[in-house]
Amino acid sequence: MDNYDVIIIGGAAAGSSAALTLGRARRRVLVIDGGSPRNRFASGVHSYPGREGANPLELVADMRIEASAYGVAYVDDTVASVTGAVGDFTVTRASGTSARARRLIVATGLTDVLPDIPGLTELWGEKVHHCPYCHGWEVRDQAIAVLAVKPGSGHQALLLTQWTDDLTVVGEAELDPEQVRGVEVRGGRVLRTAVTAVRRIGDRVALDLADGSVLERDAVFVASDPRPNDALLRALGAETVLEPNIGVELVRVDFTGATSVPGVSAVGNVVEPMAQVLPAAAGGSRAAAAVNMMLVHDDVALAFAEGAA
Ligand SMILES: Cc1cc2nc3c(=O)[nH]c(=O)nc-3n(C[C@H](O)[C@H](O)[C@H](O)COP(=O)(O)OP(=O)(O)OC[C@H]3O[C@@H](n4cnc5c(N)ncnc54)[C@H](O)[C@@H]3O)c2cc1C
Repeated sequence: MDNYDVIIIGGAAAGSSAALTLGRARRRVLVIDGGSPRNRFASGVHSYPGREGANPLELVADMRIEASAYGVAYVDDTVASVTGAVGDFTVTRASGTSARARRLIVATGLTDVLPDIPGLTELWGEKVHHCPYCHGWEVRDQAIAVLAVKPGSGHQALLLTQWTDDLTVVGEAELDPEQVRGVEVRGGRVLRTAVTAVRRIGDRVALDLADGSVLERDAVFVASDPRPNDALLRALGAETVLEPNIGVELVRVDFTGATSVPGVSAVGNVVEPMAQVLPAAAGGSRAAAAVNMMLVHDDVALAFAEGAA
């Protein structure tokens, strides 16, 4: 079985950023990546300085090339299980191959679960968005609908008044009256009827409403249910904490990404669902530096022990 200093599970922005730092720290690193970055549905990555508008898959491919240049090994596979403890973890891939590592960094991202409205999934990332900072500029001044699917939709709608005056909030979820008033005073309107389907109509989106009418818009924003891909961390016994703003139980990490399980760090969207690509990558880099320092301490302790023997 191959031995590594660090195995990184997930090799998109957060994982490859950690890999780059650890490779340059001369660590023996394996990245195992399922190849499904969260933003793969979009045509461009925005708000990532230096690569504004880059294709999401090309961006992570370039990150992989850069880390590989420092000796980091990548395999295309998913991790099925992790066993062991700090200093000696065994990571087993879906293909059945196992490898050992002294430390683990988990960067497995999250899965966006969309409301059960026919047509949303097909248009996700193209005409249906969730993040104004990612795609608001591309639809500025256009006719936008925000689907009121959860209380947080009010916040999303209020934010979008920064990008357009032509905003319609539509749906039956209870919204904060203050936020509704904020949308209305900025020129938006609120329709209290359910959306039964969305579909492409030329360059636009048609929303079929429960009252029988059809609303045509240029773009739709909707809040997803973020489901962290944290099964491996939970199986290791990582403690979780409720994130009240989004109502999701997240694996608890400190500033360096360390979880409650010694030797296991977690970075990016798996523990920070609201992080865009830049902060996800920053988390990976920070965790890598902390992990490298812990390994230096281990190696110093080993050298002392060998000297004393
Ligand atoms: C449609 C859309 C558009 C977006 N646009 C932007 C944008 O323009 N700008 C921006 O800053 N942010 C954008 N985001 C947010 C962005 O996607 C995230 O910030 C970013 O992907 C987080 O990176 P990550 O590395 O934490 O996770 P991810 O990108 O989700 O990567 C996780 C990786 O781990 C792998 N993985 C998962 N489980 C396993 C396993 N068991 N074994 C091995 N590998 C595994 C996955 O295959 C994947 O490659 C967008 C999000 C969406 C949904």
